[in-house]
Amino acid sequence: MNSKLYGNLIFELSHPGRKGYGLPANHFGNYQVPGEICRAQDAQLPECDELTVVRHYTNMSGNNFGVDNGFYPLGSCTMKYNPKVNEEMAAHHMFTSLHPLQPEETCKGALQLCDELKKMLCTISGMDDFTLNPFAGAHGELTGLMVIRRYHESRGDTKRTKVIVPDSAHGTNPASAAVCGLDVVEVKSNADGLVDVEHLRTLLDDTVAAMMMTNPNTLGLFETDIPEITKMVHECGALMYYDGANLNPMLGVCRPGDMGFDVMHINLHKTFSTPHGGGGPGAGPVGVRKGLGNLLPDQTSFSVGPYHGNFGVLVRAYTYILSLGKENLRNVGPMATLNANYIRQSLKDVYELPHDRMAMHEFVFNGLADKSTGVTTMDVAKRLLDYGYHAPTIYFPLLFHESLMIEPTESESKETIDGFIKAMRNIAIEAKTTPQDVKSSPHDTPIRRVDDVLAAKQMVLTFK
Ligand SMILES: *Cc1c(COP(=O)(O)O)cnc(C)c1O
Repeated sequence: MNSKLYGNLIFELSHPGRKGYGLPANHFGNYQVPGEICRAQDAQLPECDELTVVRHYTNMSGNNFGVDNGFYPLGSCTMKYNPKVNEEMAAHHMFTSLHPLQPEETCKGALQLCDELKKMLCTISGMDDFTLNPFAGAHGELTGLMVIRRYHESRGDTKRTKVIVPDSAHGTNPASAAVCGLDVVEVKSNADGLVDVEHLRTLLDDTVAAMMMTNPNTLGLFETDIPEITKMVHECGALMYYDGANLNPMLGVCRPGDMGFDVMHINLHKTFSTPHGGGGPGAGPVGVRKGLGNLLPDQTSFSVGPYHGNFGVLVRAYTYILSLGKENLRNVGPMATLNANYIRQSLKDVYELPHDRMAMHEFVFNGLADKSTGVTTMDVAKRLLDYGYHAPTIYFPLLFHESLMIEPTESESKETIDGFIKAMRNIAIEAKTTPQDVKSSPHDTPIRRVDDVLAAKQMVLTFK
């Protein structure tokens, strides 16, 4: 990587008159663009030759860490390998040449793919119907809550304005409820890190529209009181929402539909191996139990996104499910769980483990066990970058001061996981012997430690 030679911005490499393209001869005659929509000035575009462009972007891509570069143990996010066959299928010209407005009889294969994917998701989740419209997990949550609101409204039950959300929940849960115009009520966790059923009981009345839950929760712990919780919530007339953003531990083991959930979303960009991206391009299909299907956006006038959703992502998830097949899909949850528990057991003498129970697909440490070194979770995360690993999720969930949340997924080999364990143990030793090295890390990345607060408060989003 030589960013000095090749510049940080493509604009810095621009020279007037340089070109990297040739346009084919125009066979269509001249079309005069109407004056009122013409630019007043030429667009400011970089002028570069092809080789400069190739080197610039190739070098830029080397500054990034991705799941194709190395291990990415980002808890809650399920950064699993995205198999290349998914990309091959999504790039098939019969899919890429589709237009969302072309007549239905000319794209029946694509519609069949959507329909079969919905049926697969129903089988996997125990739900009765799905919409593939939403573009992300948070978008799915909003869609699901809109379905729930419409359910209560359709019964003339207009008092229900509250959504109960556990204190361990992903931040999108209260945010989605608020965007949907509902009031958020927090239910506490008990000493075992599970929903406090007694506290929940005091919150339930005829103003509650729904309870949102993640199970296994964000601590990676299975909510063992789930039958009682769903019974209590249903008895008060509210619906159960399942945050299935991360369905990895459940695959082939158990189903939200069987646990009594009424509405849920699934992140295809987590469990079903499609790429994550900044704000997209994901997909967060929403499933509902029998009797609620007619309230989904496809069936009614409310719309949460254009056309059939993020079609390229749907093709990738469909490919993943078919390429694993029923038998192998059943192994995903158990393998992800085994990998997580192997790491948890291997590190719990040097990192503090607040809940020393069998975890599912992920678990949370509360920083280093030895608190006397002054080395924080942030320092450990930064130091991991020098060892060639992406940092785990840090400072979430908010239940502990030094949360460090690890999710290895099922796709990593034992050798990779052992390498990560070794790096984490080394960092624990360094915290005692050379703490300054850890606190000043990362040392080997293109950009050293950034000032998070400044970056968030004084955003510089354009180049001057
Ligand atoms: C990732 C995640 C979400 C949000 O999904 P996005 O696609 O990032 O909007 C919600 N809940 C949980 C538990 C998650 O892990």
